[in-house]
Amino acid sequence: MNRPSVRDDVALMEGYHSPQVEVEVRLNTNEAPEPPPAEFTERLAAQLGGLDWHRYPDRAASALRARVAEVEGAVASQVFAANGSNEVLQTLCLTYGGQNRVCLTFEPTYALHAHIARLCGTEVVEEQRRDDFTLDIDHAVTAVRHHRPTITFLCSPNNPTGRVEPREVVEAVLGAVGAVDGLLVVDEAYGQFAPWSALELIDEDRPLVVTRTFSKTWSMAAARLGYLIGPSWVVSELEKVVLPYHLDAVKQAAGVVALDYIAEMHARVAALVEERGRVETALDDLGVGHWPSGANFILFRVPDEPGTKVWQRLLDESVLVRNCASWPRLDDCLRVTLGTPEENDRFLAALGRIVKGDGP
Ligand code: PMP
Repeated sequence: MNRPSVRDDVALMEGYHSPQVEVEVRLNTNEAPEPPPAEFTERLAAQLGGLDWHRYPDRAASALRARVAEVEGAVASQVFAANGSNEVLQTLCLTYGGQNRVCLTFEPTYALHAHIARLCGTEVVEEQRRDDFTLDIDHAVTAVRHHRPTITFLCSPNNPTGRVEPREVVEAVLGAVGAVDGLLVVDEAYGQFAPWSALELIDEDRPLVVTRTFSKTWSMAAARLGYLIGPSWVVSELEKVVLPYHLDAVKQAAGVVALDYIAEMHARVAALVEERGRVETALDDLGVGHWPSGANFILFRVPDEPGTKVWQRLLDESVLVRNCASWPRLDDCLRVTLGTPEENDRFLAALGRIVKGDGP
């Protein structure tokens, strides 16, 4: 049998991988280090008992969208929810990307923006950030005018650099995007860790959407739930494209219950932001280079050591971080997710031994 051939463009693609190995300290996928409050789990379990299992879920996810809107200062018609913010991004690309359309990214950034856009048949133009990973406004505006993308991605805080996009950059890119009839997507998967949010700019008359997730700050990576806030006319178009009943009833219930624990979420975020400062100072003390982060992770580089060697030495001590050493523009860089204080101590102690050339 000849195996059926896949699409030519898919044949050329590499998948998106993040190796998971058994370790004691897992700091490689930017998850929250702690689960949601116990009461959340109890309440959700109680709700599942009363669920109409033989019926399709609420197709419009009305209760969830209304609650998200309330929490984010929007209205329900400006909320679109899906299975993780990755599926939100995919629905955006299916709706606004495709043949004879261009999507623009500023590298280095979240690899899935380009990957999903390509899977949807969109031409991807990758423009570059400065050496310090900030974005030059003039360069960005010129790139938008030149390539006339239907989708332009920004990521703030940016993954994997951790940098927050300043408001003036987002405003300038938004202005340029509007002038070419495009859509600006600001990916704020880590938005709650940052000092400002592009949610402030959402308006029915602006071609801007902001995507967010329950996977990080809400400690709910297992649930696969994400959403966007944007003009209601964008949401209406996305609803045409997404599969019917894509959001199951359990997930809708989980999202609604989770949003009752905002104070607990803020406390977890505040603790992680404090840990971020502590780890940054410790990295400075070790002479390890790093970039300013507005997220729950830090991109770092040990001077004069191959990144993959450092990654392996950390793994030898049962500490798993993300190996970005071979990614374009990120030579020898590693990315550590902030964990509990104890996990961060384990990471810092292991890194300290590596930097000082001590065993194991
Ligand atoms: N955007 C960014 C920048 C991310 O880092 C991630 C998670 N790695 C996502 C989106 C996807 O998150 P999820 O699908 O879990 O909501």
